[in-house]
Amino acid sequence: MFNGKDMKDNRIDILGLNLEEIKSFLVKMGEKAFRAKQIYEWLWKKPVGSFEEMTNLSKDLRYLLNENFFIQSIRIEDMQISKDKTIKVAFRLNDGALVEGVLIPSEDRATACISSQVGCNLGCEFCATGKLGLKRNLSHGEIYHQVVELMKLASEKYNLSLTNIVLMGMGEPLLNYDNVLKALEMVSSEDGLRMSSQRITLSTVGLPRMIKKLADDKVKFNLAVSLHSANELKRSEFMPANRRNSLAELKEALIYFNEKTGQRVTFEYLLMEGLNDSLKDAAEFAEYCKSFPVKINIIEYNSTGDARFKRSSNEKFNAFVIFMKSKNLVVNVRRSRGTDIAAACGQLAGKK
Ligand code: SAH
Ligand code: SF4
Repeated sequence: MFNGKDMKDNRIDILGLNLEEIKSFLVKMGEKAFRAKQIYEWLWKKPVGSFEEMTNLSKDLRYLLNENFFIQSIRIEDMQISKDKTIKVAFRLNDGALVEGVLIPSEDRATACISSQVGCNLGCEFCATGKLGLKRNLSHGEIYHQVVELMKLASEKYNLSLTNIVLMGMGEPLLNYDNVLKALEMVSSEDGLRMSSQRITLSTVGLPRMIKKLADDKVKFNLAVSLHSANELKRSEFMPANRRNSLAELKEALIYFNEKTGQRVTFEYLLMEGLNDSLKDAAEFAEYCKSFPVKINIIEYNSTGDARFKRSSNEKFNAFVIFMKSKNLVVNVRRSRGTDIAAACGQLAGKK
């Protein structure tokens, strides 16, 4: 009775209602208004996936809610645990679609990597998700519940609190703008999970118009841009999204973002053999970073089975990093986690 929405019913996603709207529904139905607060807490603060679990409500009220609403939740269908303790999770959505998330634990923290869309239509050639095409956007509830599930997992498996969130799973978050922002707002809200925005990072392929919108909306979370090449032709070759948005436009949008929010953007740079890992590539990258404050993450590529793309050799990797550091840039190196279970960003493709 209390299961998720089936395709034919016309119940409403209750996560789309604010507290006042829940209150008016209750009053209209002859229920006590103060119950709205309890319901709201069950939805966001100690989130449950069904009305049945809202144990401080009467059976009748739970039934009434279930007749009129559904909770856009998700369930863990499958889990793979890596030797290094990284856990890849397949989430089954109400309509049967699958997305993946990853929990990356370390000594004193745990990071949740979550998805924003089922698939992605931007087609970066090195990315497994890009090969799927786009099935649909995730709702804000589905995005939120990935955090909730990974938070529970961190606590159950490793006795860790969730400290960081990265939107680096499947999909392009800026093409599902409203739902992503709504979900992140609730993640950091007092009414929600109370996680600091400073511990949340949204990663984007770099869409100038949407980056300006983030700046205008004065977001407080971190922004990471998957650059992977600062050469116009090269970037357009393996990242088709670059054909519609030049690197110059991207830079202009990032300068705008920096001015409006005061935030330093992070560039992600995946090193792929023979493609973007030469010292000439590094020089172009360093030049691109010159006009505004940035942080740089240099990342190991994870094989996805496409023979055209390979991880750079250690020598090339190190030479690239040393060159970037010699230009007085803030450089971090990100080695892969969960490679034995294909749990790294960009390898998430809902293989089932
Ligand atoms: N669409 C967004 C966020 C999801 S992809 C974006 O592109 O930023 C998250 C990150 O994984 C991106 O930096 C992407 O370039 C990277 N990625 C894609 N394929 C990868 C792979 N095979 N190995 C390592 N990182 C990969
Ligand atoms: Fe989409 Fe990001 Fe993969 Fe590119 S790297 S195809 S934008 S998910």
